[in-house]
Amino acid sequence: MLNKGIREEELFAFLAEKKSADIDHDYILSSMCTIPHSVAVRAHCMFMETNLGDPGLFPGTFSLEQLLVKRLGTLYGCPDAGGYATSGGTESNIQALRLARASRSDVAEPNVIVPESAHFSFKKACDMLGLTVRPVALDLNFRMDAEMAAGLIDKNTVGMVGIAGTTEYGMVDPIARLAAIASQHDLFFHVDAAFGGLVIPFLDDPIPFDFSLPGVTTIAVDPHKMGMSTIPCGGLITRDPELLNTLNVDTPYLTVKQAYTLAGTRPGAPVVGALAVLDYLGVEGMKAVVAGCMKNTQRLIAGMETIGFARAVTPDLNVATFACPKVAVPAPWRVSWTRKNHLRTVCMPHVHADRVEAFLLAMQEHNTR
Ligand SMILES: *Cc1c(COP(=O)(O)O)cnc(C)c1O
Repeated sequence: MLNKGIREEELFAFLAEKKSADIDHDYILSSMCTIPHSVAVRAHCMFMETNLGDPGLFPGTFSLEQLLVKRLGTLYGCPDAGGYATSGGTESNIQALRLARASRSDVAEPNVIVPESAHFSFKKACDMLGLTVRPVALDLNFRMDAEMAAGLIDKNTVGMVGIAGTTEYGMVDPIARLAAIASQHDLFFHVDAAFGGLVIPFLDDPIPFDFSLPGVTTIAVDPHKMGMSTIPCGGLITRDPELLNTLNVDTPYLTVKQAYTLAGTRPGAPVVGALAVLDYLGVEGMKAVVAGCMKNTQRLIAGMETIGFARAVTPDLNVATFACPKVAVPAPWRVSWTRKNHLRTVCMPHVHADRVEAFLLAMQEHNTR
């Protein structure tokens, strides 16, 4: 602590200087987060002091969280779905596996079926919950092999995970087939749509992944990715509106008697921001955003292949990956690398068409001569 505080101007000059060290979004191709939509920022500022961890004090804000759940449940074919706003995909996935575990509390040595493409949040979840992971191999297009998954189910299996929009390759697992397998075995089936949940419904030809498939139990979706909300806002949506109550603990001294959330104090601001974007844009607006991102993805793939870097796979969503050595990417561009060492880019809303062209030009110049 400073003993004596400093002047506000001095303080903010210091903060601004530090902020200028952050990477300019113009060069960020590696992130699933983006610049928040202006209506999200405006809503966020309006709800800055709200705490959803004590909803009795903020009934208005709480009703907006419920409206967000309603919007997402309806989008996913289940208007009466339950759910709540989490801090992101990690919390949603942890909570989903807690629910899966709780659904089979009789099992002493529980396991879960998870594809090899899973986000690392499942490692955290399984570690905390004492769940053994049964990894499922991927097919040549980096999608989970559904028949192999079926073969891994045994009497100790408490749940299965499918991914609708993998973090590394933007692939959608065969969710319809997996949902049918889950139904057959009466198994808890969680769909991790942290990324794809606000992309797939707005594609010209949506891939089935949601509650329209009877076997799907829960869905994770991150408004702070393609939903363009402020950070942090995730969502866990449950087909059964009562399901989350199985996680209830008593909460003395709060305005509510029980809570099923993982976090205690929870910001209302980004949650209202998320709702604001969905209501401001509507389905038509979201379709336009997604169409733009998909178009840029296709242009990026075509341009990279012209330069000589082949795609790793044709993605279902706006993630483009390439066979490309690390030295081929010039500064200050920020891309990332998959576990299989493919160059990975995500065409988020801030990656406008002119930024794709600028990147392609930089790649061209850096790699010819
Ligand atoms: C981003 C992502 C997560 C993790 O979300 P956080 O908001 O970073 O916690 C989980 N699963 C998938 C598929 C993701 O893309």
